[in-house]
Amino acid sequence: MSFPSPARLPVALFVFAFSLISVSDEIAMGRDAQQQVRKSVPVVSDGALNAFVTQVGTQLAAQARGPRYPYSFSIANYRELNAFALPGGPVWINRGILHAAASEAQLAGVLAHEIAHIAQRHAADQITKQLVANGFLGLLGAVLGNDPGAARTAQAGARLLAGSYMLKFSRDDEREADAIGSQIMRRAGWDPRGMAEFMELLRRQQGRDPGSVEIFLSSHPAPGERAEALRRSLGSRASGRRDSTAFRTAKARAVRLTPPPRSMSAK
Ligand SMILES: [Zn+2]
Repeated sequence: MSFPSPARLPVALFVFAFSLISVSDEIAMGRDAQQQVRKSVPVVSDGALNAFVTQVGTQLAAQARGPRYPYSFSIANYRELNAFALPGGPVWINRGILHAAASEAQLAGVLAHEIAHIAQRHAADQITKQLVANGFLGLLGAVLGNDPGAARTAQAGARLLAGSYMLKFSRDDEREADAIGSQIMRRAGWDPRGMAEFMELLRRQQGRDPGSVEIFLSSHPAPGERAEALRRSLGSRASGRRDSTAFRTAKARAVRLTPPPRSMSAK
């Protein structure tokens, strides 16, 4: 598909367009998208594993600034190393993240990055840009003029876009999610260097088993660069929690999980 590049549209339009998606719209979109994702991916139902990831995620999310989103944490039964955030709260990681992470701080790094995308409203921003690019902007005047019909049409468009659940964020969004995510980790008591370590691991994995990081790397800047930028801002001083027995136990459980049926593992 080819849409006009949003970059060429006047900046002032984005200022107006941004207000098109309120926090409550965003939460509603995320809820819709979450239902679609739950139907289309093999969800890990192991209670202990979910409880562990939710506990780490919730402690991190409590330290996120911005709107109080209803954060939730789910695990998809895929071996590939990938994680993503839906608008307004839902965070997903693949079981492959639990296999690969060498410490609790590394897992916390992945979750904190996704939480930061949500807290910084990157999805609302991307959806707005796509709405503009898809010609929904024409409805904006009517929306601002309180035409309920047009407002509904624009919202339906926004929901549709939110439903294509792997939104591609900009490089600036990714850099910001790394920086804000590492601050969230620090405030929540984990060693933020865990995030840089996980990126190093992604970089090594790229050489060893490219297929397992392909999707992740197609939507994120080069992990070596990201690790380097983080190390520059974090320094080498150790601070915060690195590992736990609970993490070791969860990792062992993840490794023992039955893989998804073949038909679903292609996704
Ligand atoms: Zn990201």
